[in-house]
Amino acid sequence: MLFSRFFAPTSKNDSADAKIASHRLMLRTGMISQTAAGIYCWLPLAVRVIEKITKIICEEQDKIGAQRVNFTTIQPANLWLESGRYEAYGKEMLRIKDRKDGDFLYSPTNEEQATDVFRKYVKSYKELPIIFYQIHWKFRDEIRPRFGVMRGREFLMKDGYSFDLDFESAKLTYETVFKSYIRIFRRLELTPIPVQAESGAIGGNMSHEFQILAETGESTLYYDRKLLSASDEELLTTFAVTSEKYNSDTITISEKDLMISKGIEVGHIFYFGTKYSKAMNAFVLNEKGKEIYPEMGSYGIGVSRLVAAIIEASHDPRGIIWPEAVAPFDVTILNLHLKNSRCCDVAFEIYKALSSKKEVLYDDRNITVGEKLVDADLIGIPWQIIVGSTKIEGGVVELKNRKTGKVVEMSPNKVIERFLN
Ligand code: ATP
Ligand code: MG
Repeated sequence: MLFSRFFAPTSKNDSADAKIASHRLMLRTGMISQTAAGIYCWLPLAVRVIEKITKIICEEQDKIGAQRVNFTTIQPANLWLESGRYEAYGKEMLRIKDRKDGDFLYSPTNEEQATDVFRKYVKSYKELPIIFYQIHWKFRDEIRPRFGVMRGREFLMKDGYSFDLDFESAKLTYETVFKSYIRIFRRLELTPIPVQAESGAIGGNMSHEFQILAETGESTLYYDRKLLSASDEELLTTFAVTSEKYNSDTITISEKDLMISKGIEVGHIFYFGTKYSKAMNAFVLNEKGKEIYPEMGSYGIGVSRLVAAIIEASHDPRGIIWPEAVAPFDVTILNLHLKNSRCCDVAFEIYKALSSKKEVLYDDRNITVGEKLVDADLIGIPWQIIVGSTKIEGGVVELKNRKTGKVVEMSPNKVIERFLN
């Protein structure tokens, strides 16, 4: 991609109402454009990041047998009247009338719809377990949208819904999804802290929030320091709670093991038994022909919030530092001297060669050297190949690692080899 043709409206100044780093940096790099409170357009840099996150989520969810669907963003109100949530959901739900005066709503979540699809088609216990998931936009009319896309009104969520024949099997599904989530967050190069969100009435903890450590997080976490080195299996039971639970429960953990940090909630999983299957009369027949209401769970990841959370966890005063797994491009080439034909030839040659295997942003814009270097650090692509006239005379270009700041000189051929092998 030629930067001169790429739509990334970067700016030199911070927006006055951006209170946290991710919001500030997403605006400055031209990733998002606000259209109303808590409602944002996602521009090319941001879409590329969302695509990378989506791909990782889908790979890990497919691995555990979850099946991707697309529920709808607009739902008829009657599904929610059946579950009893239409009134209960309150003002966060955006309610809509169609031209025939029918009541609709913009999905804040899709338990009812998943249950409706299930009851229409699934008749036998033999078809269970089933896990549906989707990656789709949600709308919640949050009372205080803030921090950019961190708490938006329109936001992208990965939501999943599971159906099992009995509690034991539902518990197994829950734990399988739990481990899948841990793998997802690790692949995103994040350190997930799964906190016990509420003790289920039956069989221990069956609701976890996944938190990412960040100073600007809205949650306060209390956790056992062992958690930072725990295996996936141990993570299910190692002590970690948010302040609400810490203050209300009696906690038995010694002071020397207790860690307290701020966190951002990026995922939430629940087991809720037959709440929706019973209310909506969704059942299957067991081997004796008896009607069984499936045990359900639901599983969310805040995909758009993750983009901001990753930036909170990985930035410095100069800008974003994208983890390689989700970076909008793998590498950027900075041609510092457009008027120097050697620079242009070498930069273009590297660009052509790398483009066969890598996603490359070639900065061919006619701006100053300083502006180019500043923008590259701001946008935070993991590797910068810097092509300047003095170095080129010596037969080398510079390869800079955005995270460490370390620069090494190498010949154009070496740098090509470095990325193609
Ligand atoms: P919160 O306590 O932050 O409001 P929630 O408990 O309402 O979250 P869920 O309904 O479990 O969230 O949604 C699943 C995930 O979707 C959350 O873990 C979060 O990452 C994300 N999410 C929820 N609300 C928003 C929002 N307003 N903007 C961006 N992401 C959100
Ligand atoms: Mg909420």
